[in-house]
Amino acid sequence: MSFTVALIQGDGIGPELVSKSKIILAKLNELYGLPINYVEVEAGDRALAKYGEALPKESLKIIDKADMILKGPVGESAADVVVKLRLMYDMYANLRPARSLPNVESKFSNVDILVVRENTEDLYKGFEYIAADGVAVGMKIITWKASVRIAQVALNEALKRKKKVTCVHKSNVMRVTDGLFAEACRSVLKGKVDYSEMYVDAAAANLVRNPNMFDVIVTENVYGDILSDEAGQIAGSLGISPSANIGDKKSLFEPVHGAAFDIAGKNIANPTAFLLSVAMMLDRMYDLSKEDRYAKAADALRNAIYKVYEEKKYLTPDVGGNSTTDELINAISRYLS
Ligand code: ATP
Ligand code: MG
Repeated sequence: MSFTVALIQGDGIGPELVSKSKIILAKLNELYGLPINYVEVEAGDRALAKYGEALPKESLKIIDKADMILKGPVGESAADVVVKLRLMYDMYANLRPARSLPNVESKFSNVDILVVRENTEDLYKGFEYIAADGVAVGMKIITWKASVRIAQVALNEALKRKKKVTCVHKSNVMRVTDGLFAEACRSVLKGKVDYSEMYVDAAAANLVRNPNMFDVIVTENVYGDILSDEAGQIAGSLGISPSANIGDKKSLFEPVHGAAFDIAGKNIANPTAFLLSVAMMLDRMYDLSKEDRYAKAADALRNAIYKVYEEKKYLTPDVGGNSTTDELINAISRYLS
């Protein structure tokens, strides 16, 4: 099975991360015989300045035909790009792995958590209004359909890992909404994996107390937003965190960090989060095609990144090294086989 990927460079450090990473994309295609076709599209602040739209029609045309979207960080117009694409293509599952890397300082080692966040409803649906003078109301929408669908994603992911899922909610207070979410998760996951439930306040505390008690966390939109940042920070730094937005028709892969204009153009940005997002894209291609070459390429990329961190010689300043973006990428490229 072949795939077409719409490649968005983004803003700030985005263009250098994406263009410098192209040697890795090409090498993976070559080494593993991957029929992946990358088509560059403009989106973000630079597109807004040039065309008056953060997501120009020409770009949308290409994105519409592509199977997946791979993007660097976007600046001020991030919401106009990602949020719009997420809604347009119903990319309902946000996957945020938090995994330690060797020689990246953090309080805990060997953290390996995957937060599976429902991406389309909850308080983020945007149904808010002023009910009376000084009274604002926001509606929390939870549906059985979306909850079952995210639980199914958590199940699929858990089966590839330690087969352990913690459903995080607050059904002791929000009996109706969170109660429905928990019931849906139970119906999909109970009996199929080591399944448990935890209230969100307890989960937040347990993440900083003993993160290694978690494997997969499945949760609603708002809790997932907060817990995934917490988990990412516990594993090391948001700067090395990748993410995926998965839908049935299309998926989008991007680093968690922003455009970081302060260090743009200096060849010191860390490409790890972007490259780990590439590995997640290859995972998704494997899921859809069941062709081993995609799984092998994903593992090879992750292993190469891991080795470079273990070696400690070519790390960028944000993780305590003094190498350039190019040097780190070249080191990863050398380890790819
Ligand atoms: P946003 O407005 O989306 O939050 P941002 O430009 O503030 O974007 P963040 O991701 O919040 O970017 O990053 C905060 C700071 O962390 C940046 O200003 C930068 O110094 C550093 N940083 C972020 N990503 C990286 C990276 N990939 N490599 C090196 N440093 C980074
Ligand atoms: Mg910021």
